[in-house]
Amino acid sequence: MQWAGLYNRGMNNAVPNVDLHCHSTVSDGVLSPADVAQRACANGVDVWALTDHDEVGGLAQAGATARELGMRFITGTEVSVTWAGQTVHIVGLGFDAADAALVAGLHKTRGGRAERARRMGERLADMGMPGAYEGALPFAGNPELVSRTHFARYLVQAGYCPDVQTVFNKYLGDDCPGHVPMQWASLADAVGWIVGAGGRAVIAHPGRYKYSALQFDALFDEFLQLGGVGIEVTTGSHTPDEARHYAQVARRYGFLASRGSDFHSPRESRADLGALPPLPDDLKPVWHDWF
Ligand code: AMP
Ligand code: MN
Ligand code: MN
Ligand code: MN
Repeated sequence: MQWAGLYNRGMNNAVPNVDLHCHSTVSDGVLSPADVAQRACANGVDVWALTDHDEVGGLAQAGATARELGMRFITGTEVSVTWAGQTVHIVGLGFDAADAALVAGLHKTRGGRAERARRMGERLADMGMPGAYEGALPFAGNPELVSRTHFARYLVQAGYCPDVQTVFNKYLGDDCPGHVPMQWASLADAVGWIVGAGGRAVIAHPGRYKYSALQFDALFDEFLQLGGVGIEVTTGSHTPDEARHYAQVARRYGFLASRGSDFHSPRESRADLGALPPLPDDLKPVWHDWF
């Protein structure tokens, strides 16, 4: 974990430890929502959001546990979007998790995953790795949310690769032969669901997208026009150089800045919950008016 141990202040040091991006077994994390809450608290997180992919099903358990432990809980989700032929992740924060349009939109976004998982199994079989669909299913805690991560865990267990990162590098990354692309939600829909439910929309880990400079400008402009307000600056998915670059982008566009580990698993994640450096002082955090 390259970011581990860099940041461990709590409320009593005036700067709250805020982690607004992580996953549970409701999507592709390995810990239950309650166990993610426990780990966040043990790591000194004061303000915490669970952001499962295309799901809000873990938020009730996460919120109840967080409040028992004395953390501030923020509702969250990470919506899969297709924009200019690539997948972009939009984190929603602080919305009404019972909002009917949001719940229906996320349900629809999850809808194609079952068929895609079967096709991914076929692809991997053609590549000499049979039984991956059946093998991945037991790794999925939510039958509506079978993801590439579950396939990756199975392929490690079956001995095809030493770790999940290698599976993505060789077989399941966006440009790899085992990846079956999806048509996810539109950017307008994702931002609309989040904002319509009273939340804030944030572009997750912009450093991961392979857009040209012109495309990034177009993405940011369109996102702002749709009512999006933030980008992740400090995330386990960014290198320190990428974090510096996107801090500049936040200044240039007037984005609110977010911080989140993108924690999935103690063994796989680059950053543990609450363990990232703080945001640069001059940026306006997405939580600036929450407390
Ligand atoms: P899916 O939504 O099924 O396409 O799976 C996307 C998930 O796979 C992401 O949320 C990450 O957890 C994981 N993932 C995607 N690309 C990579 C990568 N290059 N390295 C490691 N994990 C990745
Ligand atoms: Mn994931
Ligand atoms: Mn993501
Ligand atoms: Mn994530």
